Amino acid sequence: MINVTKTYLPKQDRYMAYVSQIYQNGWVTNNGPLVQELEKRLAEFLGVKNIILVSNGTVALEIAYRTLDLKGFVITSPFSFVATTSSLVTNNLLPIFCDIDKKTFNLNPANIEKNITPNTSAIAPVHVFGNPCKVEEIDKIAKKHNLKVVYDAAHAFDVSFKGTNVLNYGDISTLSFHATKLFHTIEGGAIIINDDSLVEKARYLINFGIKDAENIPHLGTNAKMNEFEAAMGLCLLDDLEFIKEKREKITEYYLAELKGIVEFQQRNPSATDNHSYFPILLKTEKQLLKVQQALNSESIFPRRYFYPSLDTLEYIEPKQCMPVSRDISTRILCLPIYPDLEEDSLKRIVEIIKSCLNE
Ligand SMILES: *Cc1c(COP(=O)(O)O)cnc(C)c1O
Repeated sequence: MINVTKTYLPKQDRYMAYVSQIYQNGWVTNNGPLVQELEKRLAEFLGVKNIILVSNGTVALEIAYRTLDLKGFVITSPFSFVATTSSLVTNNLLPIFCDIDKKTFNLNPANIEKNITPNTSAIAPVHVFGNPCKVEEIDKIAKKHNLKVVYDAAHAFDVSFKGTNVLNYGDISTLSFHATKLFHTIEGGAIIINDDSLVEKARYLINFGIKDAENIPHLGTNAKMNEFEAAMGLCLLDDLEFIKEKREKITEYYLAELKGIVEFQQRNPSATDNHSYFPILLKTEKQLLKVQQALNSESIFPRRYFYPSLDTLEYIEPKQCMPVSRDISTRILCLPIYPDLEEDSLKRIVEIIKSCLNE
């Protein structure tokens, strides 16, 4: 069976060496030595000032909103994983959707300003499939209207824009280190904070809001990463170059073979590509279903990321309708991409797609 992705596991002996270390010192969670080591290595590797590791990418978003004390309405993208929207709703924030650009699949900055009201406190865009948003335009709009910016950068691990890591844009960016992501810690995530003065508060928030033995200044939660997860991250970081090279080869193959047959995501020309996903856009949903069925019949399971469009979620009131996002979400399919996807399988995937679309 071939899925859209397959969790990358490092050599077992390397992971076990870290596990032995954990057994020796008996420190399994609460900002342990491996979490501290991974934070340090990631800050250096990514070129970011402040990074806080947390238990998953969803809680990373929630901590970001709470750190910035967001209230009222937040402008966000309807074309994302459901956690982008649900994390707002669970924090009593109302998602105000802003339709996407049909080529980049990212929130279209041209649609932001008309959605700003006195109740708007922030913009929460998504770097969809690791493709950076128009960060300069978004930041300009935010400054003009005194809004905060929280980027859901769950897909944008190790992506640079104009020579700097894209995580350095906005007030806060969040990452997901779930097992299905490019870089993972089994479950996990991170918060990247650009304003030094907010770091302490975020650190309290991930630990129940506790400052010290006698002071609990904030309403916090439990969002801590544990040592076994950090150990996985340390192993993955050592293998990242290898992982990215393999993914790049697959990307190049798909691009060359499917060019002119399907539509690709338009990538930001000033950014690097981390090859985290390989989305294709079909002409119609009917065509998509045909391709999906043909692949499924040979035990190949691409995924409909992102479907459905988040403006169709039943729990969002008032109802909003984002035609571009709805249209793209019915026609997009993410193809399998992971380091040990075999060449024969890759060839077969392309053959099946071509034969479906040539009929
Ligand atoms: C994966 C993902 C999340 C959630 O991260 P988890 O670590 O699974 O909680 C949030 N936003 C986007 C865009 C994602 O792809």
